[in-house]
Amino acid sequence: MAGDDVGRAQVNQLRLDPLSGRWVVVSTIRAERPAAFVVRTTQVQEDTSRPCPFCPGHEEASPPALETYGPTGAWLVRVVPNLYPAFSGDEPFVVTNRGPVFTQATAGGIHEVLILSPEHDASWSMLSDEQTGLVMAALRDRIEEHSQRPTLRYSQAIVNSGREAGASLEHPHGQLMGMSFVPRELAEEQARFARFAGSCLLCTTVDAEEAEGYRVIYADERVVVVCPFWSATPYEMLVIPRAHSPHLYRSPTEDLVSVGLALKACLGQLRDLIGDVAYNLVFHSAPYRVNEPFHWHVHVWPKATTRAGFEMGTGVAINIVNPEQAAEQLRLAVPTA
Ligand SMILES: [Zn+2]
Ligand SMILES: [Zn+2]
Ligand SMILES: [Zn+2]
Repeated sequence: MAGDDVGRAQVNQLRLDPLSGRWVVVSTIRAERPAAFVVRTTQVQEDTSRPCPFCPGHEEASPPALETYGPTGAWLVRVVPNLYPAFSGDEPFVVTNRGPVFTQATAGGIHEVLILSPEHDASWSMLSDEQTGLVMAALRDRIEEHSQRPTLRYSQAIVNSGREAGASLEHPHGQLMGMSFVPRELAEEQARFARFAGSCLLCTTVDAEEAEGYRVIYADERVVVVCPFWSATPYEMLVIPRAHSPHLYRSPTEDLVSVGLALKACLGQLRDLIGDVAYNLVFHSAPYRVNEPFHWHVHVWPKATTRAGFEMGTGVAINIVNPEQAAEQLRLAVPTA
C-alpha cells in the first residue's frame, strides 16, 4: 500500500511496536513545544523570556477555556485544550497494515490541560482542601464529557510534577487524554482484575493491607493509601477508594474529595521526607462503556531513581527501598473522625 506519508508522520499517528505489542504515538508537533529538549535540571527552569501561559493574566496564551471553576471573575481551576496535542480529532480507531511489520492507526482523541491552581509555585501538596476538591471535580467532569464521544473509549488523567517526571512547565498542571483505544497498561490491569479469583483485586488489597497494617500510610472512611507490597519504585504509593467502583467519573463527590485530600497529605509527607522530588500521578479508571471488573485508583510514582537498561530490557524493576520502610517513613497519623 503506497502512501505519501509513509515513514513521515504529518499528523499524529499511532504505530504498533510488534515486539512489545505497544502503541506509539508519533506526534512531531509536540517537539515544537518551547523547551521540549532542554537539558535536564533538578527544577523545571523558568523560561524568563516569556510569561507563564498558565498564570492568571496570560489566559490569551492558551486556547479559550473548556471549563473554569471558581468564583465569577477569577478562576481556581482551568481546563484548556493542549496547544500541542498528542491526540486530536474525531477519527475512529482504524488500523492499517502497510506491511508485515508496519501497522499504524489513526490517533483521534482529545488532549487537554488541567491547570491545578492560579498559583505558579503551588503543587498538589500545597493546595487548599477546597482546591483539591475542585481539581477532582474537574477531572470527573472532563472524563464524563469525553465519555459522551462515541469514537473514544478511555480517558487517561496524569499529573507530572518536576522536570524528571516529564513536566515541561513549572506551573502545576495535569493532562487529560481522551483516547480511541484502550492502552496496553490499562488492558493489562483489566486482565489482572478478570483473572483474580473470587472477588475484586483492589477490594482484597485494601482488606489485606489493613490486616497487616504496616504498609498503610493514610486511611479515612473513604480512602486508603498504601505503599503496595509489590512497589517497584522507592516511595511508590497506591490510592484506593474503599467503595468499589470501576469509574472515577461515576464516583460520589465525597469519594473524589477524599482522594484529593489523601493525595495532598501523602505528597506533603513525601516532600517533607525526601524534599521536592519529581513524581507522576496516574489515574486509572475503567474504559467508559465497560463496567467490571475494575476498581479505579491512583498511582503515585516518585522519580527517586531512573529506569535503566536492565529495567527497560526485562521489565523487571529493582526497588532499592522496601515498601515497609517507605511506609514507616511516610505514615501519617490516621485522622480522627
Ligand atoms: Zn504560572
Ligand atoms: Zn473493588
Ligand atoms: Zn493502575
